[in-house]
Amino acid sequence: MNANAVNIPAGCTLCPRDCGVDRTVAAGYCKSSDAVRVSLHQLHFGEEPVLSGTAGSGTIFFSHCAMRCVYCQNYRISHEGRGTVRSAEELCGMMLELQELGAHNVNLVTAGHYVPSLVSSLRMARKQGLEIPVVWNSSAYEKPETLRLLQGLVDIYLPDFRYYDPAAAARYSGAPDYPSWAKKAIMEMYRQVGHLSVIDGMAARGIMIRLLLLPGHAGAVRNTLAWIRDALSAETWVSLMGQYCPVFRAHDFPEIDRQITEQEYRLCRGYLDELGFENGFVQEAGSSADYTPVFTD
Ligand code: SF4
Repeated sequence: MNANAVNIPAGCTLCPRDCGVDRTVAAGYCKSSDAVRVSLHQLHFGEEPVLSGTAGSGTIFFSHCAMRCVYCQNYRISHEGRGTVRSAEELCGMMLELQELGAHNVNLVTAGHYVPSLVSSLRMARKQGLEIPVVWNSSAYEKPETLRLLQGLVDIYLPDFRYYDPAAAARYSGAPDYPSWAKKAIMEMYRQVGHLSVIDGMAARGIMIRLLLLPGHAGAVRNTLAWIRDALSAETWVSLMGQYCPVFRAHDFPEIDRQITEQEYRLCRGYLDELGFENGFVQEAGSSADYTPVFTD
């Protein structure tokens, strides 16, 4: 076992890929070994206003990913695995450093394939004075039993709900079972933390669900929002993301080799009103930073 690894199971079944590989000697679908690899940690000002605030969100980007979407804008990190192996102590130190820099929260980006190691670092950081909320920023392609390991350690869940349609999940992420796992994962996240509570303009605890608008998939966005309303209620905080840009292997898929249109954007914006959502944000089409509140009256 790598000296930096903490309790990654010998036959890894952490996520729905269920590779069953021994990560001390082989890589599964996510390509990660048993050692935690971090690409970068920094203050990030492009998250939703309740996360970035004025001082920034303390993001830690983890290398590799179990989704590996063909249009991933972070493909150098997720697919190519750029990053450096970090020990549990170093990871703990990053969290405390981000707090020291004034971050409103520690934002763990795509860390699902490292959960056991993260549990260890988070416990260590809390003992050493980490007080700001911890955000779990994920694809939602996660098992409830793995998420249960994070109970009491994560304050804010920030899952994507990427696909409603299994065929789209299969085509762009090789994961036809994504919709069923994402629904189960989101229910578990909600069970742990409930609806988002915002104190003095900053997220303190709860769940906010992100929906990336993919070209030609406005109908799926409506279906996803309807599921969220029925499963969790229209009180749920949602974040409609219009930043999609065709990068990486998106050029091999003509139907998504473009940005979303103004019409698609307006359609999805309208679904929020139609289905009664009042909490959350809408990101301007083609922008990665301009958010407006869902409820603007
Ligand atoms: S975390 Fe990686 S190795 Fe483990 S089951 Fe998922 S994809 Fe496979």
